Parts: sequence; C-alpha cells; structure tokens
Amino acid sequence: MKCSCCGEDHIICPGDLSSRPSVLFAPCPHCRPKARSKDLPVDPNEKITGPCQCNRRSLDDVMAEVYQVLVKERALSGTEPLSKLGTPLICPGMFLRRPPVLPRRSLLLISDIIPDSAAKKVYEQVPELLGIVYHSHEFPGPGDVISGHESAIREGRLLSGCDVRADIFLSGRGPVVVIKKQADMHIEFPKGIDPKVISVEEQVRRLHPDVFIDACAGPGTLGITAALFGVPEIIMCDVWFASVWSAIQSIRVNKIKLGISEIRIYEDITTRLPVYSGQPVLICEARGNGIHILLYNGSYEFLGPDLPLGRRLTVFDPFDKAAFRKNDPFLTYWTEKIGGEVFIP
Ligand SMILES: [Zn+2]
Ligand SMILES: [Zn+2]
Repeated sequence: MKCSCCGEDHIICPGDLSSRPSVLFAPCPHCRPKARSKDLPVDPNEKITGPCQCNRRSLDDVMAEVYQVLVKERALSGTEPLSKLGTPLICPGMFLRRPPVLPRRSLLLISDIIPDSAAKKVYEQVPELLGIVYHSHEFPGPGDVISGHESAIREGRLLSGCDVRADIFLSGRGPVVVIKKQADMHIEFPKGIDPKVISVEEQVRRLHPDVFIDACAGPGTLGITAALFGVPEIIMCDVWFASVWSAIQSIRVNKIKLGISEIRIYEDITTRLPVYSGQPVLICEARGNGIHILLYNGSYEFLGPDLPLGRRLTVFDPFDKAAFRKNDPFLTYWTEKIGGEVFIP
C-alpha cells in the first residue's frame, strides 16, 4: 500500500503476507549472516559485506554500515560500541526467533545520538534503512488524558526517510496489521503471543457483542482485532492526533481483509489540536459488508449518546492501568450508562 506520509509503496497489507510472515526476514540459502558483538566498535576500514543475491542483508551488517557512515560524518568517534547507535525496529514488526535479514527500506532506527545532517547521509547510503527517528527515552504521546489535567506531550522527530511502519500481531484469524507513525507513538513490539489481542479474541468469542468500543484506541490494534472476529459495529476513540492518524491507516491497510468498501474522512486529523479531550468528533467512517467502523477524536468520557444500539463490549487500554482500575466510580458509571461488559486487557 502507498504510504500516506511519503507516498512510497512501503506499507505491507495482510494480503501480501504468507501464512508465515517471518519468511520476509528469514535468510535464503545464500545468505551468510554473521553475528557481531554489540559491545564492540566497528573497524572503520572493514569492508562490510553488501546485500546477498536475494537483495537482503543481515541486521548486524546493516547496523555496522550505519556505524561506519556515522564515523565518516564525525557523529561517532569510532570508539563507541555498536549498541550505542540506538534501537533498530524492523518494518513490518513481528516476532522473530532469529536475527532478521533485511530487505530494502525495512529498518527504522530510533536514536538519540544522530545529528540531522548525518541522518540524511546515512539514509542515502544504507538502502535497508526506512528512516531515522530522534527519540529521547520517553514514551511519545500525551500519556493518559484525564479531564481537567493537561498532560505534557512528548514526540520524537523524524530525521530522515519515513517513520510510518507496520506491526503484525498474530490472532486466531490470521495477522492483524497495525500502522504507526512511529515518531509520535510508543513502541509496542509484537511478541509471539500478544495478550491484549488474545483477550479481545476471547471476550468477543464469549460475548458475541454487536458493538465493540475501543475507548483508548491508539493505532487501532484492538478495534481492528474485534472487527476481524466479526463484531459488526466498531467504535474507536482517542485524544491524540497521531493515534487517530495511525488508526485511519490501520483501517485502510486492513480494508480488503475486513470487507470494507467505503472509507470516508470527515476532517483532516493533522489540522486538529495534538491533544483534544473534548466531545468526540467523528473523523473517519468505514463501511462494508457486515462491518461499520466509526473513529473519533476526543475523550471517551463523552461517548454515549451516539453509540450504536445492541450488546456492547468496551475495552479500556490506558497507559496507566493501575490508576485506571482504581477509578471505580467511572467504571460503574460507564457500565450503567453504556451497558454491556467492560474489560481492561
Ligand atoms: Zn512512508
Ligand atoms: Zn540471501
């Protein structure tokens, strides 16, 4: 799928994936991946092996080449360990049992040591890189927004390339592809078994709801999962513009798999406030055969009057679950006002 950010065709769709998505990053018979110590520097004179005939290269060799370019650009002195570069995130993100071999534009590097000019050089010279994001060590985004309190916003910054990437979560009905604009979203990397995805699966199978409300939707992981398991009405809501932007992309990427025939955008989310905790405003609506998704920007606390009728199931997936669980009056109010069941995955 074409990326809504950079226009390049680098977003993988569920239909592009085989039954074992990990083959994307598995070595071919000619790949000779060699593990490097992350605690040592890379010799500036080493000739680093280029891509294999399958056009892919091991993660360690890609990182070593990034290192060498950074030394040339004087962003590193050459004595730092390889691990100093930052956190590599593969795109699409998925659980792997062994280190990946990387195709073109499949690696996002999250780093706090790379200056802008060097980031551009690295991107030009290392074909496996999708982008470089500057990041301090905090979760990006506004955290949990509680009415009456404005929370501080933390964002990363894209230094070069593109930071829109997919994560692939496995479910009983195949892969769930979720898109994130990574500079603005926190990192939630797929594990072999994803407890949140599984808990949605279990609750939906148990309760057969007509309406699934993903109250702190983020990039849409849980709402899309519920749709995949056949819930006909999906409501997603988030206060953070980057979450809503990402959720729109998640709907687009899963369009065919979910049987969606029409996606309408009512307002350009990028022109709205970064954090908006007022009455939910409808941003995107998707319809198809037995599927209807409404995506709102605003606070879930005000959802209610517009919710579709039927048996309801609400998931709350806030950052601070412990604090949220203590908020009994709200949960009681929600159950009385909205009805149905509530769960925290
Ligand atoms: Zn892109
Ligand atoms: Zn190969």
